[in-house]
Amino acid sequence: LSPVPSDIEISRGQTPKAVDVLAKEIGLLADEIEIYGKSKAKVQLSLLERLKDQTDGKYVLVAGITPTPLGEGKSTVTIGLVQALTAHLKVNSFACLRQPSQGPTFGVKGGAAGGGYAQVIPMEEFNLHLTGDIHAITAANNLLAAAIDTRILHESTQTDKALYNRLVPLVNGVREFSEIQLSRLKKLGIHKTDPSTLTEEEVRKFARLNIDPSTITWQRVLDTNDRFLRKITIGQGSTEKGYSRQAQFDIAVASEIMAVLALTDSLTDMKERLGRMVVASDKDGQPVTAEDLGVTGALTVLMKDAIKPNLMQTLEGTPVFVHAGPFANIAHGNSSVLADKIALKLVGEEGFVVTEAGFGADIGMEKFFNIKCRASGLVPNVVVLVATVRALKMHGGGPSVTAGVPLKKEYTEENIQLVADGCCNLQKQIQIAQLFGVPVVVALNVFKTDTRAEIDLVCELAKRAGAFDAVPCYHWSAGGKGSVDLARAVREAANKRSRFQFLYDVQLPIVEKIRVIAQTVYGAKDIELSPEAQSKIDRYTQQGFGNLPICMAKTHLSLSHEPDKKGVPRDFTLPISDVRASIGAGFIYPLVGTMSTMPGLPTRPCFYDIDLDTETEQVKGLF
Ligand code: ADP
Repeated sequence: LSPVPSDIEISRGQTPKAVDVLAKEIGLLADEIEIYGKSKAKVQLSLLERLKDQTDGKYVLVAGITPTPLGEGKSTVTIGLVQALTAHLKVNSFACLRQPSQGPTFGVKGGAAGGGYAQVIPMEEFNLHLTGDIHAITAANNLLAAAIDTRILHESTQTDKALYNRLVPLVNGVREFSEIQLSRLKKLGIHKTDPSTLTEEEVRKFARLNIDPSTITWQRVLDTNDRFLRKITIGQGSTEKGYSRQAQFDIAVASEIMAVLALTDSLTDMKERLGRMVVASDKDGQPVTAEDLGVTGALTVLMKDAIKPNLMQTLEGTPVFVHAGPFANIAHGNSSVLADKIALKLVGEEGFVVTEAGFGADIGMEKFFNIKCRASGLVPNVVVLVATVRALKMHGGGPSVTAGVPLKKEYTEENIQLVADGCCNLQKQIQIAQLFGVPVVVALNVFKTDTRAEIDLVCELAKRAGAFDAVPCYHWSAGGKGSVDLARAVREAANKRSRFQFLYDVQLPIVEKIRVIAQTVYGAKDIELSPEAQSKIDRYTQQGFGNLPICMAKTHLSLSHEPDKKGVPRDFTLPISDVRASIGAGFIYPLVGTMSTMPGLPTRPCFYDIDLDTETEQVKGLF
């Protein structure tokens, strides 16, 4: 239709097929799905075993140039591409998307189910509770948070013997030590495996975690943009006996448990990762883990259903997995390894799995390769790099673009010069993808104000910069048929041999790994470490965590650390203000400047428009 109706009107205009019908179409057996409502289902991990001899399909990553704050359409391109592949070219394909946080849905950005005629439906179910995975993460995260503070309280009020008698033999419900407990005993110089043989002195050492409260890095989480929880004081009740400290809430998707969910490949692996999560240091500077607190089993129980990918469909009835949605700054911003692995089996050798990385390619794609592919062992075949004329004009020197403020005329009228000048950002992002040896197809996501001359110029410059191909896409206004050219280009690029390689060896020292990313990806002259960052690096290296990959927490609005530096900033030194670690997820994350892990609400949040028609039970106002 023209004009294109609102996202929720389009979503509602199409009746999704029943999810068991969809599951059957893509080769799932009846007992391999657990149905939630009419159009969502969880998929059993046992499928991986059944299909283990099946050759994987082609693996396509959708990334983007440095975006405006409005987003340049990575999700819509991902969905448009699978709609084109499956519904129009008759090639099996799967889209794998992140589950959005509820925070932005009620805050500034709105939903993340794509848009126009390239959407996942029903979009309100996609954007709101889905099947409860984020709620499970919130529950698990906060159980661990409660365990930390309660343990500190109990250690301060009980004798060593009482602590030992109550805690140690009961951990995991068995009277023997777990692997992690045994390794902690070894670190303490105690080489015994039977709890009953520990001496009084050894009991004292082992029973007390001696958590240093000033080193606690584990925060409570909530999936609501509530800025008043950014700094809080806990333990104000008289029953906590004066044990009180400053703490904070993060948005739920910033929990390390979300990153664990996204990177794990089995229940056993998830349990191990949850146990390894480091929550603080003890008073001797040794790491304290979730396993030390005896909570691994309970966390795994809370997460046992969340680990199963969620099956949904596009507007054109093609299959989609929605699974995990880690933050793209302090975490790696990619959907789950498990969804990608299962989808690659389901599409078969000739099929395609299209997965999306958050933020610009300098962040989301770099982390996809260096963190996600390293964890999964999967080899990508093609990168689709999404660009828009409006973002290129901004990089060429156009006025700033702000969410909720109408675009200036530079963006609504033809301006060849701005586009030409801004293509430097596109060229740089193409070069970044090429560092990893994967062919790049540029998808120019066309808006109705773009002119023929502007579109042709972008495609021409992209090809000159080394892209395998560059094509305009019209999926937003025309659905899958508007992205058939993109689908053809991707299919051709996938026939090229991928010479995929990582950017750095994980065995390099932490500082060297950060420097490689800063210089070769962002184009920085060098890096500058704050004393805090240097001492954390020394501590993590000494604790034995120096060989993990790096997850940079940097703004997505510039290749540099300064969001207002557009195009390709040069001659800058990247300041590293702090360095933190997600040991269970398996990465070290340096902070480039300060990062907010709890967004706030704007003066006019999206929730003003959201309502329920109580007669029809239809949700209104989501976009
Ligand atoms: P990203 O995934 O890069 O953040 P999205 O795909 O979520 O971006 O798109 C951001 C917003 O822009 C969505 O509201 C989407 O509907 C809208 N959008 C995307 N492409 C177009 C287009 N070609 N024309 C108009 N609106 C678009």
